[in-house]
Amino acid sequence: MKEGIKDTLAFDMKDFRHEDFKEYEALVPSASLDLTYEEAEFISPLSCTVALFRQGGDNIYVTADVTTTLLVECRRCINPFEIDITTALALLFSIDNESSEQDEDEEGERYYDGETLDISEDVRRALVLEIPSWSLCSETCKGLCPQCGAELNTAECPCEITSETPVPDSNPFSVLSKMLKNS
Ligand SMILES: [Zn+2]
Ligand SMILES: [Zn+2]
Repeated sequence: MKEGIKDTLAFDMKDFRHEDFKEYEALVPSASLDLTYEEAEFISPLSCTVALFRQGGDNIYVTADVTTTLLVECRRCINPFEIDITTALALLFSIDNESSEQDEDEEGERYYDGETLDISEDVRRALVLEIPSWSLCSETCKGLCPQCGAELNTAECPCEITSETPVPDSNPFSVLSKMLKNS
């Protein structure tokens, strides 16, 4: 049974008390998950399909498919362009009736309080991993002339470039390390 479209990734278990399976569609504003990056702008809401499966008692198996659009800068010509990213999660939630220190447990195992099941942080982390560290507007992008800065996709420049001329800012890890600092 499908619900109306939600705008959050927190699920009220009261709605799920007498069910074994439920599928939700959600359109979640990226800002509500703190997805704000300079290098990669989340320009559309996260489009999510989330399914909850009861696995006996209060253990809930959750799958989520999430798609969204990023505006990133081409690393060669520095023009912004859009890319779609997508991620899929599978998590097993059980009730936490001991300490709340259990969040960092094994991959895919989560705890909840029995009332609200929130996958926002899991989705946020999974999406951050999908942000490309090396984006090109096209495989054949010619980039900028390292000497005069002309955009070689659209302009000719008089410089003589040899194949030894280094492409500026060609470290694919610099964006990633910046993002890790921001997150
Ligand atoms: Zn480019
Ligand atoms: Zn030039």
